[in-house]
Amino acid sequence: MIAAMVVGAWATGSLALVAEAGHVAVDGSGVAIALVASRLATRAPSNTRTFGWMRAEIVAALLNCVLLLALGVYIAYGALQRLADPPEVAGGWVIAFAVVGLIGNGVSLLLLVRGSRTSLNVRAVFLEVASDAIGSVAIIVSGVVILTTGFQRADAIAALVIGVVIVPRVFVLLRQSVNIIMQGVPAGIDVDAIRTHIVAMNGVQDVHSLHVWAVTSGVPVISAHVVVDDDVIASGSGAEMLDRLVECLRGHFEIEHCTFQIEPHQHRSHEGSYHQI
Ligand SMILES: [Zn+2]
Ligand SMILES: [Zn+2]
Ligand SMILES: [Zn+2]
Repeated sequence: MIAAMVVGAWATGSLALVAEAGHVAVDGSGVAIALVASRLATRAPSNTRTFGWMRAEIVAALLNCVLLLALGVYIAYGALQRLADPPEVAGGWVIAFAVVGLIGNGVSLLLLVRGSRTSLNVRAVFLEVASDAIGSVAIIVSGVVILTTGFQRADAIAALVIGVVIVPRVFVLLRQSVNIIMQGVPAGIDVDAIRTHIVAMNGVQDVHSLHVWAVTSGVPVISAHVVVDDDVIASGSGAEMLDRLVECLRGHFEIEHCTFQIEPHQHRSHEGSYHQI
């Protein structure tokens, strides 16, 4: 399909077809990168990588963003040049090649619909294929305009549409990836609510050093220091307390990966200022 579009772009002199071929090529490499990343993510942890390669997916998503941004800049540059000095474009052939592209997009869109909510990369690729379809339609419209009115700048405008359609997708993906790298709280998790639940538990005095982040998309993690009443420790019910904490996080917040440090209030003076927050 990419080959057909490259031939089409060369034969018709259309920048919009070049943009679309580039877009499809980046999508294709995006799929390949995402597949490699999801393979890497299943690697076992080691003594040098205690999380294994779980974040390979995030690196892959960022790589995809960089490729898409580079393509966007290239399209914008070419389109502005052509708006100033529009070359001749063979409108009829542009339509023919764009229709081939649209059919190819429709097929891959259908294949991806099911997996689109499971992983950041599959979702990213799905959004991309959907925006490719919009691009194909823009090219067909530009071909019709060129054929009927001879307005050659329609090709550069269609190329710009393809470029502009990429941008919001890139920023959504970029924001999600950067949030994970910044150890941001995953969307939909209310840290205040977690704090309230923990402090409301029988025997709990305070919670501090509460951290919530995601190792990779869909894998939220929590760690916290929980200060408990003296008699929780004296009566040996720390284990039961730990069970209640884990059940709360799993049951009320769907967080499976918990690390709790249960401490008596006297421990506070032994901690550095980093842990007081
Ligand atoms: Zn800490
Ligand atoms: Zn502490
Ligand atoms: Zn709870």
